[in-house]
Amino acid sequence: MPWGPFYEQRVYNRRRDVHAVYGGQQQGGICTPSQHPVIIVFTGSSGEQHGYADGWSSEGVFRYFGEGQLGDMVFERGNRAIRDHLVDGKDLLVFQTRGREGVRFLGQFECAGYSLETAPDRNGAQRSAIVFELVPANVGEQVKEEQLVEELELDVDLAGLRARALEAAQLTPQVAGTAARRSLYRRSAAVRRYVLARAAGICESCNEPAPFVTLQGKPYLEPHHTRRLSDGGPDDPRFVGAVCPSCHREIHHGLHGPARNEALIQAINQKEALARR
Ligand SMILES: [Zn+2]
Ligand SMILES: [Zn+2]
Repeated sequence: MPWGPFYEQRVYNRRRDVHAVYGGQQQGGICTPSQHPVIIVFTGSSGEQHGYADGWSSEGVFRYFGEGQLGDMVFERGNRAIRDHLVDGKDLLVFQTRGREGVRFLGQFECAGYSLETAPDRNGAQRSAIVFELVPANVGEQVKEEQLVEELELDVDLAGLRARALEAAQLTPQVAGTAARRSLYRRSAAVRRYVLARAAGICESCNEPAPFVTLQGKPYLEPHHTRRLSDGGPDDPRFVGAVCPSCHREIHHGLHGPARNEALIQAINQKEALARR
């Protein structure tokens, strides 16, 4: 799934395609543009010189070493930005540095957790390093039917679904690998179920009934993340709407998309204010 102008696996010019458009630090691995809700991370080169490297684990988690060349790594600046990107409502993009060739877009990710590990610093001294566990952001879209069946059998009312979704959204899992992925699945599924129940078969944007029913006999609506530039991944029910495919396309690609998104945010706010009572 592309993010803005970036398509996965395509190679871009870091200065011209990334910084000229989004700003942010032109040096270093973690770029935090002040004018755009996005954190841009570059993997490659620097860690490898010091004897450790970012990379995929066998469980499909991308292990990314934080910043800090000397001494223990701490949660400041870029490291804090990665840890808190979901709470801050910022998208997390990962590019792989390819030397003169440019930077390859690996995709949009979510920070599912982190671990502290011993790794050499620039001078070869052992220190505590932050290793972020990044999971592709569309992981929440891939919730398997079987994983949902168990939950769907439980009869829970709207308030119960809402409580669960809010609880799930607060979680920042401090767990690794498969457990991190599973916890993202669960969080995303809880939010999705509540938002669809809240909509009750009516598009939250145009207030028309869903255009068709699914194979399971449910009205078809799509979750849309109002605070993000793209969809996918875990979320917070207060920032997710259930919309019909037509509204969804318009919000993302239409001339009046930003205004439609703003109106949807207001509509969700009103519903959530009533639900809180
Ligand atoms: Zn609609
Ligand atoms: Zn959307």
